[in-house]
Amino acid sequence: MLRAADLYAQATRGLPPVTITNVKVIGTSPGPGYSWVFLKVETSEPGLYGVGSANDRYLCWAAKAALEKHYAPFWIGKQADRIEDLWQWNYQRSYWRNGPITNVCATALDSALWDIKGKRAGMPVYELLGGKARDAVPCYAHAGGPTMDACVESAQEWHEKGFRHVRVQMGGYGGGGFIAPGEGSRPESGFQGQAFDEELYVDTIPQLFQHLRDKMGWDVKFLHDVHEHLSPASAMELAKRLEDVKMFFVEDILPPEQIQYFRQIRQQTTTPMAMGELFTSPQEWRPLISEGLIDFIRTRVGMIGGITQAKKIAALCEQFGCRTAFQEGGENDPINQLLAYHVDMSISSFGIQEENDFPEAVREMMPGAAELRGGYLYGSDLPGLGIDIKEDVAAKYPLVDDHHTSDWTTVRGMDGSLVRP
Ligand code: MG
Repeated sequence: MLRAADLYAQATRGLPPVTITNVKVIGTSPGPGYSWVFLKVETSEPGLYGVGSANDRYLCWAAKAALEKHYAPFWIGKQADRIEDLWQWNYQRSYWRNGPITNVCATALDSALWDIKGKRAGMPVYELLGGKARDAVPCYAHAGGPTMDACVESAQEWHEKGFRHVRVQMGGYGGGGFIAPGEGSRPESGFQGQAFDEELYVDTIPQLFQHLRDKMGWDVKFLHDVHEHLSPASAMELAKRLEDVKMFFVEDILPPEQIQYFRQIRQQTTTPMAMGELFTSPQEWRPLISEGLIDFIRTRVGMIGGITQAKKIAALCEQFGCRTAFQEGGENDPINQLLAYHVDMSISSFGIQEENDFPEAVREMMPGAAELRGGYLYGSDLPGLGIDIKEDVAAKYPLVDDHHTSDWTTVRGMDGSLVRP
C-alpha cells in the first residue's frame, strides 16, 4: 500500500512525456487571398496531434519548404510538452532570428504544441494561460465606402450589428488622399495612375471623422488605419487634428522604419496610437511599450512566434499600461485567429481584437473555427485550440500563390515615386 506522500508525489508528477513522431504540412487555398500552410504535429500517443499554421500569403511556398525541409526533421523526436524550451531551441537553431519565415514556422510549431497540451489536459488553451479574464472577445469591424456618406452608412450597419468599435476607411488604404488617374501635375510620359498626396489626406480624414461624429454621435468608438502612408510631420499634424473627434485609436501612422518619431507624437497629442502590424522583432515593440509611446500593440500573433511570444507581449503591456489589439488581416486563417482568441481571453492587458470572418467552404474544412456574433468572438471551447483540419476537404483546394496577381502594396505619388502601402 502506498504512503500518503507517495500518493501525493504520484498525483503531482505531471503527465508522462510524449514525443513528436510526424509532421504533416498541408497547403490549401479555399478562397481568394487564402494561401494557407497548415501543420499537423503527430505524437507518440496514438490519435493525439496538434494543429498549427505558418501563414504568410506573400511567401507561402517558402514557408512550406522551410517546414518540410528544415524544421520538421529537427522537431521529430523532440518532447511535445516542453513548449518554452522547444520554442527557444527552435528560435536559436536557425541562427538568424526574427524573420517572417522563421516566425511563422515557429508559430506553427508553438500552436500545435499548445493544442496538444490542451487536449491532454482536457481544457481550452486559455485555461492553461490563466483562465478567462473576460467572457468573450470584443472585436472591431471594418467599415468603409467611396464617400463620406457611404462611410456613415457602412459604419451604422456595423454598429447596428452590435459592434461598439468600428474602423472607417474612405476607400482603400490612403483613401481620402488620392488624386484621380491622369489628374494634377504629372511628369511628361510619367506615372498617370491614382496618386497619393499626404497633405490632401491630412485635410480629408479629420473631415471624415467629424462627419461621422455629426451623423452618429459619441456612442461609437472610431478607429482608422493610416497604413504607414505619412511622413513624420504629416503624421503629427493628422494626430493633432483628430483630437476633437476622439478616436479609439489611429493605427500605423508611420512605417516601422520611423518608430523613433512616436516620442514626438506622444509629446504633441492625446490621440491614441496603435502600432506594430508589421513588427516581427522584440527590438521593435519593446521600446514603444516600455517607454509608454503607444497605447495599443498591433502585432499579428502568427507573425511573432505564436501564443508563447504573444503572452509575453501581453505581460509587457500590463507592466507599462499598453493594451493589445492583435492584427487580423482578411487573408489570415482560423487557426491563427484562435491563437489571438486564447491569449485575448486570458490577459488583463487586452484592448480590442480585429475582426475576421470565413466563408462556408472554410468552416466545412475547419470544424471548430471561432464565430463572430454581435461584435464578439467566441471559440469552440473544445480542448486545445478547439479546431481541426479536414485533410480531404483541404485537398480539394490546392495551394496557390496569388501574390503575383495582387498589386495592392504598390502605391505611388504624383511624380511616380513609391509610397509605403
Ligand atoms: Mg492595419
